[in-house]
Amino acid sequence: MKQKSGSLSNLFRISIEIGLFIMSIALAFGQGQYDLLLQGGHVIDAKNKVSGIRDVAVKDGKIAAVADHIDPAKAFKVINVKGLYVTPGLIDIHVHVYASTGEAHSYAGDNSVFPDGFTFRCGVTTVADAGCSGYKNFEDFKTHIIDRSKTRVLAFLNIVGAGMRGPKYEDNLADMDPKPAAAMALKHKGLIIGIKTAHFTGPEWTPVENAVKAGTIAHIPVMVDFGANRPERPISILLTQKLRPGDIYTHMYSGLRNELVDGHANPAFWEGRKRGVIFDVGHGGGSFAWRVAVPIVREDFLPDSISTDLHIGSMNSGMKNMLNLMSKFLALGLSVDDVVVRSTWNPAREIHHEELGNLSVGSPADIAVLRVQHGDFGFLDMYGARMAGHEKFICELTFRDGKLVYDLNGLGRPDWTTLPKNYTNTGDARWDAIRPAHKGSE
Ligand SMILES: [Zn+2]
Repeated sequence: MKQKSGSLSNLFRISIEIGLFIMSIALAFGQGQYDLLLQGGHVIDAKNKVSGIRDVAVKDGKIAAVADHIDPAKAFKVINVKGLYVTPGLIDIHVHVYASTGEAHSYAGDNSVFPDGFTFRCGVTTVADAGCSGYKNFEDFKTHIIDRSKTRVLAFLNIVGAGMRGPKYEDNLADMDPKPAAAMALKHKGLIIGIKTAHFTGPEWTPVENAVKAGTIAHIPVMVDFGANRPERPISILLTQKLRPGDIYTHMYSGLRNELVDGHANPAFWEGRKRGVIFDVGHGGGSFAWRVAVPIVREDFLPDSISTDLHIGSMNSGMKNMLNLMSKFLALGLSVDDVVVRSTWNPAREIHHEELGNLSVGSPADIAVLRVQHGDFGFLDMYGARMAGHEKFICELTFRDGKLVYDLNGLGRPDWTTLPKNYTNTGDARWDAIRPAHKGSE
């Protein structure tokens, strides 16, 4: 009996040894624990209070480890990112990526862009469309854009049922029913992350009040573009009474609605912030002026989130893109860490997606690898006024769910001279989602 159990345990020990031997062979061939390792970058992860040199490992589309040193032999693919910043994928909570109408007008909904064409090249992995669709056309938006984009596309649902289609629709008080809006938001929980009201020109509070009603039913925040400046509904009442904690005031540096009073931030800004109202940049084509932003930033009233208000107009004028906008805040004197938290972890929390905007182990491996370039640059505001700056964010690499989706300088790529004569494939599905070149005429 004794003898028998001894030989059994021997057998057990031998099988473990064989197992370990096979594992070590696998590791030796780089088939080990991790699909991808980003080595030696400066990691900025505000949620986990990390700002320093770390290695980041990815496995099965999730962050698998963040540490001072991770053994490169354990990774299938290693990319050296020394001298670069490694941040969570950027989150832009104010973009326009759905055109709901063929009618000609000059509003954002009609000037939308396809998200994938503008996101990954800027390190952006998540966007929130700011009200292009209402409850009547959200599902069309979902079918045609959201479900077909590689970018994570979320949405603020317009309180206007017809969505962002110009003044005829957006001033129509009869089409701002909070119940069907809330019902649509609850049906697409997690995808519809807020309610938007925008561009309203009338004196009534109805759009704001109904947006808040819908947001309350659906347990999501409201984002306000406060429209025309009307004495009947001043910004002070909006920020101190109408909005709930967690609701978002976008276009904070526009100066179009008394954001700046006698050279200072409107006192209601401070009171609103104390109440928990969120302040968002929403630069756009006409919502960011140096003469407004500089004095307010100097008073240390900084944005909670940096968002672009991306559309055809803004991308070709002062705003340009997320990284250009973030660079403006470097020019305004914020640190790289200050800017990155406002483009990652803060917006993730604002839209109740706390699994995003951080590099916690187990989080989706949405990652941006950014360079801060030094030189003589200039940044334009909504009026075309220039501010000089000496630092500029450049996106080197973007990963979405652990897959490389943008590689500016080929940091993740082999040199062509090292490849077989007839090479056609330079990546691997484990870490690479960049579409390989086709042999045909496509
Ligand atoms: Zn907008």
